[in-house]
Parts: sequence; C-alpha cells; structure tokens
Amino acid sequence: MKLAERMARLGTETAFEVLARAKALEAAGKSIINLGIGQPDFRTPDNIVEAAIKALRDGHHGYTPANGILPLREAVAADIRRHRGVEINPDDVVVVPGGKVTMFFAALMFGEPGVEILYPDPGFPIYRSVIEFAGATPVPIPLYEKNGFSFNAEEVLARLTPRTRLIMLNSPANPTGGVAPKAEFDRLVAGLEKHPQVAIMSDEIYGRLTYGNNPHVSLLSYPSIRDRVILLDGWSKTYAMTGWRIGYGVWPKGMAGHATRLAVNSNSCVNAPTQFAAAEALNGPQDSVERMRQAFDHRRRVILRELNQIPGFRCVEPVGAFYAMPNIEGTGLSSRELQTRLLEEAGVAVISGTSFGAMGEGYLRFSYAASTEEILEACQRIRRLLGLAGKAAIA
Ligand code: PLP
Repeated sequence: MKLAERMARLGTETAFEVLARAKALEAAGKSIINLGIGQPDFRTPDNIVEAAIKALRDGHHGYTPANGILPLREAVAADIRRHRGVEINPDDVVVVPGGKVTMFFAALMFGEPGVEILYPDPGFPIYRSVIEFAGATPVPIPLYEKNGFSFNAEEVLARLTPRTRLIMLNSPANPTGGVAPKAEFDRLVAGLEKHPQVAIMSDEIYGRLTYGNNPHVSLLSYPSIRDRVILLDGWSKTYAMTGWRIGYGVWPKGMAGHATRLAVNSNSCVNAPTQFAAAEALNGPQDSVERMRQAFDHRRRVILRELNQIPGFRCVEPVGAFYAMPNIEGTGLSSRELQTRLLEEAGVAVISGTSFGAMGEGYLRFSYAASTEEILEACQRIRRLLGLAGKAAIA
C-alpha cells in the first residue's frame, strides 16, 4: 500500500507514548508515578455527569447540528462575557470533539505550501504537527526560561513575513506553565495592527488556571484585532473532562461556516449528551472549578520547592496550567535520557522537553495534576536516583 506523502509529516504527542509505556511497566508489577499526561486527576463534577445522564434519559441521543446545540453555544457566549468581558455571537461558536480539533481546523484552513505559520517552542506538539500536515512552513517562536517562558512580542513580530498567515499562541502555556503578562499582549497587538493579513489562533484552554498575581489575558478582548482572532477553548482542563471529548472555537465573523464544513466532513457533531453536560458545566455552580484550581495551586508550590531541591535541577515558578518545566542541564544528561531513566529506573513518568520542540532540550515537563503524596514520592525517587547513585553511576 502507498500512503499519501502528507502522512509522513504528521507528528504525535509523546505524552500518550509515555503513558502506554508507564501502563506496561505497571502491568508488569512496577510502581509508577505518572506525572506525564496532562489531565486533571479529579472526577468530573457530579452536576455535569448527571446532566449527561439526564440528556440520554430524555432521548438526546441522535445527531445534533454540526456546530453544536444552540443552548450550548449560548452558554459559551455567556461564559465568554463573564470571564473575558467580551460579547460574541453564538453563531460564531463551533463545538468540536476536544480543544485539539480547533487547532487542526485552523491549520487546515490557513495552511498550504508557501505559507508560514508561527507557533511557540517549547509548545504543545500538535501545533507543529498540524502545520506541517497542512503543507505550511512551521516557524517557531522561541520561549525562554529567563522570561518565565512567556512569549516576547518583539520576537513574534520579528518573525512575520509576507508569507505569514497565522500565529498560534498559548497562554497559560503547556508545557511550561508560563503566562504572558498584559503588557506583552499589548505590545504584540500594537504590532499586529500593522499586519492586518495575519490571523491569530489563541489557545486559551488553561485560561481559568492561573495562580498568584498572573491574570489570564484573552486575545479576544482586543477590539483592534478581534476580526481575525480564533479563540480555542474547551472543557477538558477546567472541568476535568478530558475523556468526554468536547471543546470549541470562536471564529471570526463569517468563518464559522468553514469550520462547520470541516466538522460535517469529519466528526459530524459532538455526541449529544456531552453537549448537555458541557452546558451544565458553564451554567451550573463553579465552586468545583475553584476548588480544583486551589488544589493545583497547592501542588504547584510543593512541586516547585521539591524540584529545586533535586541535584542538577532548577525550576522557574510556573504560574498557569498544571505543568512545571525544570531545567535539568545540571544532571549532565539529555532530556530524553533522563526521561527514560526516570521511568525505567525510578518509576516516575515525565516528558522530555524535546517532545515540545528543539527549545525543550535541557528541560523536562512535569504535570502536577497528581496528589501531593505522589509529587513528594516522585521527587524523592528522583533525588535518590540522581543524588545517591550520582551522575557517574547512572550515566
Ligand atoms: N491545547 C493545549 C495547550 C493543550 O495542552 C491541550 C491538551 O493537552 C489541548 C489544547 C487539547 O485539549 P483537548 O483534550 O480538549 O483536545
């Protein structure tokens, strides 16, 4: 069989591979602490689960409109008004099976040979993958530890060329936990005003997960570029709903139809009960969101302290999402080597920074969406491996 050439350009997400290896080791009787996969360890709140069950009992088990049921798109609009202070039209919302789908649709819509698309490095690996799949040229925006992994507006603007069609941005960020400050967004938007042909996909899936004095800034809230911002958001992280598979895009005026056509040609619609559950998530009580955020905040402080006590590690404070990205150069090992040794010898699953781009060499990503006990035990295991065994012994 001969496959299309584009299949060779499709990347992957290492987190799923590490998860598979961790499960295999566990099945073989090894004790594994999983700080690899990026999903909340909480259960979806009961009111949301009940709404899905009720929807099924009420007979909502057929196809829905491809862009999502109207009450859900209205709930999204109300949520955006509450949390971003922006009025949007529910008709510009396209509900899709997961946050990821909006980035795939955006890459397919804008990408083709000869076109450049900017994306963060280190960044969510699917950005580069879908850009290349679409045939466009991926242009990395380097993110630096010294800036707390926030993007730098000048660095972004310096990479714009007449071939640039789309910029993908992500704040709060995976894999770094970085949150770009408002002043940086202001500078970026001022520069983008001079490039009216460039669209911006703002991945704000961790928008409700920020800590300390680092408020989330939405690119949707800038009127001067509003007509070319695609907002990517969803329920996976905020409401502990990764396995339900639902997310949404808010598309610039006139573009939701294109996204809907891509949906009609692929997934048809998101399953009906999940859409009712997602509406309850947005319309119902929000105390569980805040409870989860506070738990993440506590774990964040614990992991930051612990990581900075591991020989050869140093970690800048992550202020968003649920990831920490320590610099591990002091161990003398490459990120990939250390990822493998931690999993195979210490039973700790984490992800090599290189899975998130070339700028990730010298770093590991820790997901702290795990219990405090697991975080403490994981860091102790790593200290034992690196400290007692010593560099020479494990190298
Ligand atoms: N965007 C970022 C930055 C992510 O980290 C993830 C998931 O890890 C997604 C999007 C995709 O979310 P979903 O599981 O809803 O597709």
